[in-house]
Amino acid sequence: MSLRTRLIQMTPRFLVRIFAGPYIAGNSLAMALAKADTLFQNQGLHSTLDLLGEGIQHEKDIDHEIQQYLEAIDAIGDRTYITLSLKPTQMGLAMDPALCQRNLERLLEKATSRCIPITLDMEESRYTDATLELYRTLRPKHPYLGTVLQSRLFRTKNDIPRYLDGLQAHIRLCLGIYPEPPEIAFQQKTEMKENFYQRLGQLWDAGHFVAIATHDEALIARCLQLAKDKHIPPERYEVQMLLGVPRSAIQQQITQQGIPVRLYVPYATTWDHAYAYAKRRLVENPQMALYVARNILRQFFGLFRTKTALPPRSS
Ligand SMILES: Cc1cc2nc3c(=O)[nH]c(=O)nc-3n(C[C@H](O)[C@H](O)[C@H](O)COP(=O)(O)OP(=O)(O)OC[C@H]3O[C@@H](n4cnc5c(N)ncnc54)[C@H](O)[C@@H]3O)c2cc1C
Repeated sequence: MSLRTRLIQMTPRFLVRIFAGPYIAGNSLAMALAKADTLFQNQGLHSTLDLLGEGIQHEKDIDHEIQQYLEAIDAIGDRTYITLSLKPTQMGLAMDPALCQRNLERLLEKATSRCIPITLDMEESRYTDATLELYRTLRPKHPYLGTVLQSRLFRTKNDIPRYLDGLQAHIRLCLGIYPEPPEIAFQQKTEMKENFYQRLGQLWDAGHFVAIATHDEALIARCLQLAKDKHIPPERYEVQMLLGVPRSAIQQQITQQGIPVRLYVPYATTWDHAYAYAKRRLVENPQMALYVARNILRQFFGLFRTKTALPPRSS
């Protein structure tokens, strides 16, 4: 274990809670729903709820996760502005892909009958094949199922025809949070972002729906300009961001153009899971600690106001 990882693991709970506070809706489904309702009613923002769970290694723990998701599907009811996201390893992917598929089918049966979209998040590259294989298998029966592609990975360009051909898929495109080695992934953010832009065009050309998941305002502006140039109607894309990242000005500009903005809203059922999640994110991406510190300062002093101009809506 590196010194950095050890230091993060030793961080006192109250500090982790300060770090996690803006990013997590709370420690119950009710709190997550209340957050989603407020975001929609006050700012017109959509949500995708994500139940945090860590270190799932036993089938009985997976059952618990499934129960929580089934409850969430019931509770969402007819709120069309809420979807769900989940990590395939929460459903047993690391233990056995066939078990994961059976568990997902249990969930999807109910979600599909209620027209509630579920997105399979993308984890480390060792799970990419299995996740995309699950997607290709399950999507034809479940038209509300989505998944994620990471522009950090070289393979994404080939995964689009290989796994998504003919599916009219629902794809969240992001950089990818997990560090990956230089043999398989871009190491510079500028390269990941250029690849993001190229893969977005490729996905649209192949007829897929794309959720543009980034907080980089210049990249968002470029992507929205591409939608305009390619005459992509707003039914075929949305912009996604994480709860807690202060982007309200640009979110408002985008929603005013009739383009949906959806926030990723994590919630826990115990603070232990929330602490574990926050620590894992910090280990994976220590820059996040800087972001949080900068964001707290930004809110405090009103610094670094957004200057990015979005392209005007096409007529
Ligand atoms: C809705 C959504 C879902 C995602 N799902 C996945 C997934 O399934 N798999 C996966 O690997 N990755 C996922 N990610 C993470 C994504 O891959 C990136 O790691 C993350 O969004 C940061 O990249 P960026 O495009 O915002 O660009 P960056 O250049 O990293 O960030 C641009 C700016 O945004 C701000 N910012 C970015 N992230 C944060 C943060 N966490 N806190 C505070 N400020 C921040 C900073 O000001 C930063 O300078 C998801 C991201 C979003 C928005």
